[in-house]
Amino acid sequence: MKALNLYGVEDLRFEETTNPELASPDDVIIKVKATGICGSDTSRYKKLGPYKEGMTFGHEFSGVVEQIGQAVTDLNVGDKVTGCPAVVCHHCQYCEKGEYSRCENLYVIGSYVPGCFAEYVKLPATNVLKLPDNVDLDTAAMVEPSAVVAHGFYRTHMKPGATVAIMGCGSIGLLAIQWAKIFGAAKIIAIDIDHHKLDVATQLGADYTIHSIENNLEEAISDIPDNIDVAVESAGSPFTIGEVLTLPTKGGEVLLLGIPYADIEIHRLHFEKILRNELNVIGSWNGLSAPFPGEEWAATLHYMSTGEINVEPIISDRLSLEAGPETFDNLVNKKKHYDKVIFHP
Ligand SMILES: [Zn+2]
Ligand SMILES: [Zn+2]
Repeated sequence: MKALNLYGVEDLRFEETTNPELASPDDVIIKVKATGICGSDTSRYKKLGPYKEGMTFGHEFSGVVEQIGQAVTDLNVGDKVTGCPAVVCHHCQYCEKGEYSRCENLYVIGSYVPGCFAEYVKLPATNVLKLPDNVDLDTAAMVEPSAVVAHGFYRTHMKPGATVAIMGCGSIGLLAIQWAKIFGAAKIIAIDIDHHKLDVATQLGADYTIHSIENNLEEAISDIPDNIDVAVESAGSPFTIGEVLTLPTKGGEVLLLGIPYADIEIHRLHFEKILRNELNVIGSWNGLSAPFPGEEWAATLHYMSTGEINVEPIISDRLSLEAGPETFDNLVNKKKHYDKVIFHP
């Protein structure tokens, strides 16, 4: 089969690779129909390189069941599915408590085992979720990032009627706008440095938008009559991770979703907000809970089927897998603008 394999920093190759084979009785082999580029993929491509040289890359996907192991009872060949790409050990102290996002042995496909930038991918049956009939395969390729965002919101103490600020309107931020609504936000403030992203944010339900280069953020926030209860950092930039601390009201919450991949220097007065305003700063990792893979996944599929999670405005490009090397180069070297890229292997 054809796959995109990562050999080193900025060295991704479209090449012939061996097909996955059923090894354990609960394995499932899926024909990949749609697979998305995640922000963490671009960081790994640009800064970190592969965990294992030549590993098939990618972890967000949907597809159709191609083959099942003998022990698999709740899936059939031909089922339309998505995959939870995180594999946990089920026996560490955190797994025993059902806190799968904290598993000591957690890994995601595309790191130590082959990922889904390929024609076929293999996962244990517990990681495979059947799609509701009305959820299409491109939408289902975004179940994983949606589950990651949902996990963060489940970790907050958000109440109906809350005002939520979303800092950074990439795919994660645009999903966060929709999850904020589902969690009962009355008002949503979207902050970004890109007019196009702010337009999409409005389309997806943001009540206010702030372009944080053209406007002074502090003044723009003070012009909004509502106090911010929850501020979500979804830009993952070292600067916004400090700035997001200035947003919530006293006693409010900061939800950190973005991964900076760089050292962070926080302005003293920004840091002091945690103390003076008695903020609750919440870290969030992956999107897993009990029963595995968790409520984040079932809820995502439910809200995708009702249309309350709508990823159509987020997807900008649908490309062949062959376009992978060029697309990653364009993305990280800013040769071309993309929102969410979906490959159709
Ligand atoms: Zn991802
Ligand atoms: Zn574990």
